[in-house]
Amino acid sequence: MHFFNYRGNRFYAEGVPVERIAKEAGTPVFIYSQKTLKRHYRAFDGAFKGVRRLICYSVKANSNLSVLKTFAKMGSGFDIVSRGELFRVLKAGGDPSKVVFSGVGKRDDEIEYGIRKNILMFNVESAQELRAIDSIAKRLKKRVCVAIRVNPGVNPKTHPYIATGFKKNKFGIEAKEALKEYVYAKENLKNLSLTGVDCHIGSQITEIAPFIDALKKTRNVVETLRREGLDIRYLNMGGGLGITYGDETPPHPSRYGKEVVMGTKGLDVTLIFEPGRNLAGNAGILVTKVLYTKKGTLKNFIVTDAAMNDLPRPSLYGSYHAIKPVVMPGGKKEITADIVGPVCESGDFLARDRDITEVKPGDLISVMSAGAYCFSMSSNYNSRPRAAEVMVLGRRFFVVREREVAEDLIKGEVLARPLFSGG
Ligand SMILES: *Cc1c(COP(=O)(O)O)cnc(C)c1O
Repeated sequence: MHFFNYRGNRFYAEGVPVERIAKEAGTPVFIYSQKTLKRHYRAFDGAFKGVRRLICYSVKANSNLSVLKTFAKMGSGFDIVSRGELFRVLKAGGDPSKVVFSGVGKRDDEIEYGIRKNILMFNVESAQELRAIDSIAKRLKKRVCVAIRVNPGVNPKTHPYIATGFKKNKFGIEAKEALKEYVYAKENLKNLSLTGVDCHIGSQITEIAPFIDALKKTRNVVETLRREGLDIRYLNMGGGLGITYGDETPPHPSRYGKEVVMGTKGLDVTLIFEPGRNLAGNAGILVTKVLYTKKGTLKNFIVTDAAMNDLPRPSLYGSYHAIKPVVMPGGKKEITADIVGPVCESGDFLARDRDITEVKPGDLISVMSAGAYCFSMSSNYNSRPRAAEVMVLGRRFFVVREREVAEDLIKGEVLARPLFSGG
């Protein structure tokens, strides 16, 4: 549930008319509802009441400092996939002792930064990475906690680009191989503390079964490792719980929680979760202005000032985002149209063949469910400054990231003199 609703014919973010935000912050603009972020965190965390757990919000879903700070203040940990994300978490006041570092390709400097900042643990994705972390830890005279990301070989039934739990995917280590690595590391990699087992099978998962399958397999791994004498204290179930963009009916966190708690009964571990989309996805919208409308022979087009560089999911995955007018037009006719941006790619669309009440230039529309994997995936393609981000708090709102300006686009670029001096 989220706090973007109509009051009469006007669309509100919590207690603020969306129109007012667009007027002050300009368009395109991302609007986040803090109340929604908090509600989603509480719903997720509350699903595990009574069991030892650590919720590590997955930073890549939405890494705005104010979003991170909102979660940090609620006691959340963080799941990071880069040095840059750890930098953000620390800037936002996140507690490094609640940070887990995931990712299939961590560089030495990233591993060192994580160790120096005393993060909770690394989720390790290859035999070579295990050795790299051990040798860096040795140089720094530290002992570092690690979990191996086990690829459980399950079908998460989601878009192929965000499925990670198949054996053919680049992520994690297959269970049998992982067991060998744990035993090897215990004997030989003395600067590692093998305290966790990790898995993450994909994103936008809308059924419970793949999670249960993965849980069975990882539970098995935990039990086998304990028989081998390893002291496994953490079981990390990753993220992936889906949300409703259109007509999906993902399990509620409480149902997910119930199943996971049941499946880990008697295991005596601290559970770690890495939800991203589930917390942030429906806590944000993108508001964009209609620039032009045009009628082709085959199609109607609505050209907006937001494009694939602002909200890449439709272009990247063919994703559906609901579209709502910011001011509900009274009694206008419905048309079917493609809602497209100004970028020079035919793949630049926010929605295709969408039924929408007729709009005219200057009207505002909001793209729903834009809180996760939208701004964080945005780019400057076509030299388009990135959108502003706004956080709403009841009846107030704050610009939490300024709209980029032309100077931001060329930051760091230089006209290297020899190139142009004729010599
Ligand atoms: C992306 C990612 C997540 C978050 O996935 P969501 O679907 O947003 O919950 C969690 N863990 C890892 C390792 C990831 O790569």
